[in-house]
Amino acid sequence: MSNASDDGPTPPQPRPTERQDVLPDRSTAAPAAETFRFEDIFPLDDIQRIQDAFAEAADVASLITDPDGRPITRPSNFTPLCRDIIRATPKGLANCLRSDARLGRTTSGAPTIARCLSAGLLDGATCVFFGGRHIATWLVGQVVDESTDLEAVLAYGREIGADATAFRQALMRVPRMPRERFAKICQALRHFANHLSSMALRAHRQSELIGELRRAKDRVKERDRRLADIIDFLPDPTMVVDAGGTVVFWNRAMEKLTGVGAVDMLGKGDFEYGKPFYGYPTPLLVDYARGAVTRPDPRYAVAELAEDAIIAEVTVAALPAGPRHVWAKAVALRDEAGRIVGGIEAIRDVTDRHEAEKALAEHRQRLEVEVEERTRDLRLQAMELAEANIRLSELDRMKSVFLSTVSHELRTPLTSILGFAKLIGRDFNEQFLPLTGGNPALAAKGKRIADNLAVVFGEAERLTRLINDVLDLSRIESGSMHWRDTRFAPAEVLARAAKTIEGLLGQRPEVSFRFTADAAIPDLRMDPDQLIQVVSNLLQNAVKFTRAGEVRLELTHDGGMVRIAVTDTGIGIPAEELDSIFDKFHQVGRGDTIQETAKGTGLGLAICRQIVRHYGGRIWAESTPGKGSAFFVQLPAVPPGDADGS
Ligand code: ADP
Repeated sequence: MSNASDDGPTPPQPRPTERQDVLPDRSTAAPAAETFRFEDIFPLDDIQRIQDAFAEAADVASLITDPDGRPITRPSNFTPLCRDIIRATPKGLANCLRSDARLGRTTSGAPTIARCLSAGLLDGATCVFFGGRHIATWLVGQVVDESTDLEAVLAYGREIGADATAFRQALMRVPRMPRERFAKICQALRHFANHLSSMALRAHRQSELIGELRRAKDRVKERDRRLADIIDFLPDPTMVVDAGGTVVFWNRAMEKLTGVGAVDMLGKGDFEYGKPFYGYPTPLLVDYARGAVTRPDPRYAVAELAEDAIIAEVTVAALPAGPRHVWAKAVALRDEAGRIVGGIEAIRDVTDRHEAEKALAEHRQRLEVEVEERTRDLRLQAMELAEANIRLSELDRMKSVFLSTVSHELRTPLTSILGFAKLIGRDFNEQFLPLTGGNPALAAKGKRIADNLAVVFGEAERLTRLINDVLDLSRIESGSMHWRDTRFAPAEVLARAAKTIEGLLGQRPEVSFRFTADAAIPDLRMDPDQLIQVVSNLLQNAVKFTRAGEVRLELTHDGGMVRIAVTDTGIGIPAEELDSIFDKFHQVGRGDTIQETAKGTGLGLAICRQIVRHYGGRIWAESTPGKGSAFFVQLPAVPPGDADGS
């Protein structure tokens, strides 16, 4: 018993399993390498034929067993000694099996040559591996070599209880060969077994690959199914075409919109999918997106156009629901390398929105027309107004001319009336009244004539005042007033105004008058005569509407303003009239003048307001009816340090 060699090639090792980039599918997984049996990998018929032929050619017996020594193949070319005599005895068979198993176990890569445990004949064994695991032992043997102890073999026959004659005859038929030749046969067997080992692994790898491929195909199919479900779920009609323009998805919403089922459309190409929309095969937006057609058809209203995507609207006529306006978006689909592999298009029926927009546009257009018409009307009105305005200013100018002419024409005769009334009165009083003598009737008549003359004189004076006031006001309002502005100290001018009412006050001893002025009142720049007119008006009113008591003129200043106050203890003014008394011809309706002869014109305060406003000032009244009134005038002072001394 000796090993022929130890330097055989290492048995092939299985390659590490490749990284799985897909989810493992346990149900179809290949059985693990550990469970592989020799007979699973190799067709036993072929192996049997090879084993038989090999045994025949090498003149040896041969058998393939599992690692435990159990036969896998049928024995080939077994000598009758082993087959019919030794294995026919229970003891012999047991020893044979034990011997075969031991041979297999002691065998690694190299063939083992040993004497069999039973008869001591020469046996050889080599192992078949699968991925490093021992799956079978290929045995050859039952050879008598030059050193076989034939006497010991015969003794073994007796030991297992075999027929001695038959045993001896059978032993004579056992092949005899030199040990060296048997070793060569074993070496040849070893090469073959090694080849079987690598074939086993290759076969396994192949079956694994086939399994993987099948599973990958299943996964792709599953994914396609899931994708179809997803696309079906989309509420918008959606279709997908592949690189060749063949329909690969046609979802339910699309079936509903077009009335064409997926079964009829899937797999169709040549722009067949244009038919449900246009009535004839024609490219759709998806074909522009994936570059199958170069330029979008002019019938599309393109909203967005990028390299791989397009959004457009179009009216299509052939849908079952009749002409519809649809919005569509199409995008090219690309693979990892960026190659276009198809396109997807989603469609939305936006007919309602489109109609609404169209209606709105018409509406808007109508509105625009209306606005235009209205604008034209307004422009016309504005022109008419402007013309009216021109006519009005013309009238105003004519009014001023008329007023100054009329007042001039009135003033001349009035001056005569006043002059002659005065003359007649003086002559009558001085020369005619004394002639009445002691005649009381005549004296009374003379007195009445003198009184009537006084009335004529008074009314003529009032008319003169009215004419002067109307003239002043119209001059200010028409801007033809001549303002003689100059800088002056207000206290002196106010003193002059106070003088103008001294005559009035002389006849009214029951009304006292007081004028006070603060020190260092800043100067005013304005027409001093106009200031006198304002203050005189206020003072005359105060005297006119005060039965008894006091009229006061006060001059103060506050910040940059000069303030003039005229206060009286007269009848006062109702609160609701404090503003309107400054309007033209407004008089508090009460027949309230203290002196009937000093009946006013209702223009005094209006003139005052015009003058004060002209100089940027303010005039207002405060009053407690029955207790008295106060009129305030506030005018901007010349700023201190203003060098202009004019
Ligand atoms: P008139 O010539 O009538 O005085 P004004 O314009 O000067 O015209 O004054 C308008 C009215 O304001 C007067 O008629 C009078 O009713 C009222 N009024 C003016 N000043 C006083 C005052 N100091 N006291 C009471 N009433 C006044």
